[in-house]
Amino acid sequence: MSDSCFHMSKERVTAANKRILNNDRAVDCNQLVPIKYKWAWNFYLDGCANHWMPTEVSMQRDIEQWKDPNKFTDAERHVVRRVLGFFATAETLVGNNLVLAVYRCVDNPECRQYLLRQAFEEAIHVHAFQYIVQSLSLDEGEMFNMYREVEAIYDKDNHAMSCTQSVLEMDPKSLKTKEGLQTFVKNLVGLYVITEGIFFYGGFVAILSFGRQNRIPGICEQIQYILRDESIHMNFGIELINAIKEENPEIWTTEFQKEIRDYILGAVVLETRYAEECLPNGILGLNTALIQQYIQYLADRRLERLHLNKQFDSENPFPWMSEVVDLKKEKNFFETRVTEYQTGGALEW
Ligand code: MN
Ligand code: FE
Repeated sequence: MSDSCFHMSKERVTAANKRILNNDRAVDCNQLVPIKYKWAWNFYLDGCANHWMPTEVSMQRDIEQWKDPNKFTDAERHVVRRVLGFFATAETLVGNNLVLAVYRCVDNPECRQYLLRQAFEEAIHVHAFQYIVQSLSLDEGEMFNMYREVEAIYDKDNHAMSCTQSVLEMDPKSLKTKEGLQTFVKNLVGLYVITEGIFFYGGFVAILSFGRQNRIPGICEQIQYILRDESIHMNFGIELINAIKEENPEIWTTEFQKEIRDYILGAVVLETRYAEECLPNGILGLNTALIQQYIQYLADRRLERLHLNKQFDSENPFPWMSEVVDLKKEKNFFETRVTEYQTGGALEW
């Protein structure tokens, strides 16, 4: 029983005993209460309050518009395909990373409660893109292979996942070493800050620009829900990273800070390249320069949240995106239906 997660004891767990990682035998991983990390529990509650399902969003108008040969230019169809092609597999990559790498390493029960919720949300996002691809009768082979066939997408996925492999192979016991913790934190940055906090945003801004013209409203409504979920995912991830840093200050060396900063700045280059690939000539008031500026603006915000120096000082060229991010359920940016999910489905007895 020496490897067991818990042991017989009359000594009760207090919140003060809990740690974010490496709880070992002092505290087992099954006691949610007493809650120490209230922020993690609150993210769980927020996620549940935002529950939605893709198939509750009508795709009828999108289907009609997409079939109409005059509704979209070739450049516009290209953007939509590239964005959907990226997301079609990116959500699955995130889910896999979460369950196979993050969950194994984070043994604090409050965080795990949130991770279970997040994992379900990633499944909903995977479902959303499957539903969109199917509704528009897009070429499934093209969509789901795009991350292996289009270099700009391959490079993004590869950049974000480059440090996951070592975490997958890692023994959680190595989280007791400074190097092990650093490897893990870098994976968290790749997942929460880069993938969910930078790589999703070129696609979000491109799709939501159609929504501002009342086009593809069903896709836009789903993207809005996804964006709302993703901003909670990222905020949880940043809290988690900062909590690990706080409890293990020895990992946050000058060299490691530089490594993390370079990792994030590298993502800005790749996201800009992806924007060039998606919209080589600009559409709908969007062009690569504006998207680059937006990604730089976001990267600065992410760097600051990690207590790293910002890099660009770029202004937000799309202030309307902040309205979407801050979307409250009672007011919808696109004036379509917003479902109130607080209570979930009603039971009939
Ligand atoms: Mn997601
Ligand atoms: Fe996510």
